[in-house]
Amino acid sequence: MNAAASHDVVVIGAGLSGLNAATLLEAAGADVLVLEAQNRVGGRIHSMRQLGNNAEAGGTYIGAGYTRIMTAAARHGIRLIDVTPTLEFFREQDLVLGAEIIRQAEWPDHPANPFPEGDRTLMPWRYRRALPMRENPLGSPEEWLEPRHAALDISMHDWMRGLGCSDAAIDIGYSRNSTFGDDASDVSALLLLFRAAFSRAQRAFAPKDTLGYTAENGVESIPAAMAASLRRGVRLECPVVAIDHSRDAAVVHRTDGSRPNSNVWRRRAGAGAAVVHCADGSRIRAQHVVFAAPFGVLRGIRIDPPLAGLQAEAVDRLRSQAITQVYLRPRTPFWELDGYAPSLFTDSLPGMVAAARSGTDPSEITHLTAWVTGAHATGLDTLSETDAGRRVIDAITAIRPASRGQLEFIGLHSWGGDRWAAGAWALFGPGEVTRYARVMGSPHERIHFCGEHLAVASRGMEAAMESGERASKDILSRL
Ligand SMILES: Cc1cc2nc3c(=O)[nH]c(=O)nc-3n(C[C@H](O)[C@H](O)[C@H](O)COP(=O)(O)OP(=O)(O)OC[C@H]3O[C@@H](n4cnc5c(N)ncnc54)[C@H](O)[C@@H]3O)c2cc1C
Repeated sequence: MNAAASHDVVVIGAGLSGLNAATLLEAAGADVLVLEAQNRVGGRIHSMRQLGNNAEAGGTYIGAGYTRIMTAAARHGIRLIDVTPTLEFFREQDLVLGAEIIRQAEWPDHPANPFPEGDRTLMPWRYRRALPMRENPLGSPEEWLEPRHAALDISMHDWMRGLGCSDAAIDIGYSRNSTFGDDASDVSALLLLFRAAFSRAQRAFAPKDTLGYTAENGVESIPAAMAASLRRGVRLECPVVAIDHSRDAAVVHRTDGSRPNSNVWRRRAGAGAAVVHCADGSRIRAQHVVFAAPFGVLRGIRIDPPLAGLQAEAVDRLRSQAITQVYLRPRTPFWELDGYAPSLFTDSLPGMVAAARSGTDPSEITHLTAWVTGAHATGLDTLSETDAGRRVIDAITAIRPASRGQLEFIGLHSWGGDRWAAGAWALFGPGEVTRYARVMGSPHERIHFCGEHLAVASRGMEAAMESGERASKDILSRL
C-alpha cells in the first residue's frame, strides 16, 4: 500500500464551520488540507443559480451582528445587501387552517383564534417567535447551557402550558407547520429560548427597520471565496469514510512531495497521527483532524478507537430537522384573482408557501417556495422529484383553486434526504440540551468537532463560524 500523504491538519467538510477552522489554522502556520464529499463547497449554504435568480436553498439571512460572517464577506470583497424589502412575504401571507384561508385582518376576531387577549393580533408564525422572546430568562444566548436553566429543558408543549397556554394555542401557535420538531412535544424549550436570545441580541446590532442582509451574488459566494483563499484549496468529491489513529512515530511526505519540516506542529504533536480514509481508498495522515459535518453524517463514519459514553449516544440520537424546499414558478399572478396574499402559511403538506423576491426588483415575485417540514418532508423523500412537485402543486390547488394550472414545478432541495447534511439544523429534544450539549463536542483523540450544532453562543451561519473558530483554538491550545 502507498504511504499516506501527511498534513498538520485535515478538515473534513467544506461548509462554513470547516472553512473557518481551516482559514484560522492556516493563518497560525498549519499545513491544512480540506476534504469535501460533494462537488461544491458551502454545504448548507447553497445558492440555486440554476433557477435564474438569487434563490437560496439553505442559509440566506445574515443578522446585523453576524460579525464573523460579515468579516469573511468583507475580507473577500463580497457585497452584502439589505434583505428587508424581499421579506415582505412575512407581512403579507395569509393563514390556512384546514380548508379555510384566513386573511390577516380577519384573524384577531376569527373563532379559530385560540390566543389570549393581547396576543390575538399575532399570526401563528409570529406567536411562536414572540413567546420565547418575551418570556425569556436568558440574559445572553450562551446562558442556555448554564445549569441554572436546566429546568427549561422541557418540551415546548410543557413550557407553553406553564405559561398558561391552552392546548389549542399550543397546537396552532407552535405545532402546525413547525420548523423545529414535528410538534411542540418533541423539541426542547431551551433550544427555542436560546434561538430567541440570539435573535434578540442580533436586533440590538441592527439599524432600525433592517431585518438583516444577504450576499448580493448568492450566499454561496462566501464559502466559495473562503475555499479559494486556502493555500491548498479544497479537495472536492472526496467523502471520508473512516478515521483511525496510529501510534507509530513515522511522518511521511505530503501530497506535493515535500518532506514535512520539523515545525512547531510536528515537534509538539508527539508520536502517532490520525489517519483519514477516503471513499476512493486514499489515506491521509494528520496531527489533528477537524470533523466539520453534522452528526447525521458522522454516524456513518467508522472511528477507531470509537466514540464512547454520552458523546457516542449524542451522535447516535441527536436529530436534525427535515425540511424540503419546493420551487414553483407562477405562470400568472393568480393571487390577483382570488384576492388572497401571494404567500400562504398552511397547516398541511405545502407548509409555508412563500412568495420569493429573488430578482433585482424587490416588488417582483420571482417564484414561490414551499417550505415542507417534518413528516410531510420525509414523505416527499419517497417520491421522485417530479412526483413530489406535483403532489405539492395539487395540495396548493386544493386550498387555492385560483392557482389551478398556474404553477410550474422548477426544482426542489430536500435537506432531510441530502446524505451530506442529514437535515436542516440540529434538533434537541426535551432533556437533550442538558444531557448532551456540553459534552458532545469534546475532542476525541486527535479529532476535533465543529458545525452549527456545536455552537454555544450563536445560531445559523454564525454558529458554524463560531464552532470552527473554537475547534481551531482547541487545536492551537494543544501545541
Ligand atoms: C433551509 C435552510 C435555511 C437556513 N437559513 C438560514 C438563514 O437564513 N440564516 C442563517 O444564519 N442560517 C441559516 N441556515 C443555517 C446555516 O445554513 C447552517 O447553520 C450552516 O451553513 C451550517 O454550516 P456547517 O459548516 O455547520 O455545516 P454544513 O454546511 O452542513 O457543512 C458540512 C460539510 O461537510 C460535508 N461533508 C459531509 N459529510 C462528509 C464526508 N463524509 N466527507 C467529507 N465531507 C463531508 C458536506 O458536504 C458539507 O459541505 C439555514 C439552513 C437551512 C438548511
